[in-house]
Amino acid sequence: MNEILVFTEVTDDGFDKSLLEMLFMLKELGHDNSTLTVAALGDNMESKESILKSIPVSKVVATKNLDTNKFNPNILKKVATNIVERLNPSKIIIPKTSIGQDLATRLAYSCNMGIVNDCLYIENNDDKWIGVRPVFGGNYFAKVKATTDSQIFCVRTKVFEELTDNSVTPDIEFYENDINIDSSTQILERTQEQSDGIKLEDAEIVVAGGRGLGGPEPFETLDEIAGLLNAAVGASRAVCDAGWKDHSYQIGLTGKDISPNLYFTVGISGASQHMAGCGNSKHIVSIDKNIDANIFKDAEIGAVGDWKNILPGFLDTLKDLAKD
Ligand SMILES: Cc1cc2nc3c(=O)[nH]c(=O)nc-3n(C[C@H](O)[C@H](O)[C@H](O)COP(=O)(O)OP(=O)(O)OC[C@H]3O[C@@H](n4cnc5c(N)ncnc54)[C@H](O)[C@@H]3O)c2cc1C
Repeated sequence: MNEILVFTEVTDDGFDKSLLEMLFMLKELGHDNSTLTVAALGDNMESKESILKSIPVSKVVATKNLDTNKFNPNILKKVATNIVERLNPSKIIIPKTSIGQDLATRLAYSCNMGIVNDCLYIENNDDKWIGVRPVFGGNYFAKVKATTDSQIFCVRTKVFEELTDNSVTPDIEFYENDINIDSSTQILERTQEQSDGIKLEDAEIVVAGGRGLGGPEPFETLDEIAGLLNAAVGASRAVCDAGWKDHSYQIGLTGKDISPNLYFTVGISGASQHMAGCGNSKHIVSIDKNIDANIFKDAEIGAVGDWKNILPGFLDTLKDLAKD
């Protein structure tokens, strides 16, 4: 039985960098990357051998001559199941990307394995792994143990930093494609979300607005602030539901998970469902006119007042600083 298997997605652009975060987490758990195996998922892996060689673990496995029909979940499940049956790992790590979280559940069902979904991190308790995950909108943390011999852990991205040690070069093993990849569904198209500037999930600084802004226009000021701070702009669900911003801006339980260094909010009350997506921010700075707003429980710095009186001065100061 192989000890640990980590899945990653590979495209022509490279392997998904969330893999490096998983390797960092595993190192903290006492598993050096030089001892680990990665299963790479994607199309035509033989043509991507140079990418696979850049994955800093001891071994990388992939299936030959594969057309996954744009990462079709049915096909990925079959490919991943085939790899798991060959390697028989005791622990499987899947990064919680949009493809990964879908795969993890299907794979657990297909291989009859216990799964701990949405882990923030994993604790090692006498070699029994326990996934720690947010529950009740992030107000509590549950410690969840899977009781099957082999277990799957789907781990949130952007919680750990990326492993920087790239001194290890893997042996690559290609498996013959002996999988029946017929699928009852076909992916017709995948489109890349169009966003100007920095991606919300990757931003070191996020400036977000809530219903307290009163409409879409004040987001122009947030855009300006974000430009000066090299930040991304986000929003609460109330804003997206009102159509002031597209849902791709939404942060929270049913939106995006972010873990920026600085999260700057304006007119966001800090409902638990919102905090579920930004509770990992290192520093939170908030403006809200209600001193009892929930956001102030998490904010390190809070300005209580009407944003219309606070933001213009803040913006002017930033502009002055940017001149220097
Ligand atoms: C199943 C479920 C999933 C959900 N998922 C999400 C999610 O992913 N993300 C999310 O954000 N929400 C989510 N919600 C909704 C969530 O419960 C809240 O309704 C939402 O986050 C509120 O958005 P808000 O803070 O912008 O608005 P409000 O709660 O209305 O807060 C507005 C804030 O602005 C302040 N304010 C008003 N005027 C001013 C002013 N002039 N100056 C300064 N401050 C001002 C107010 O004091 C208030 O604190 C979910 C809810 C459910 C039930």
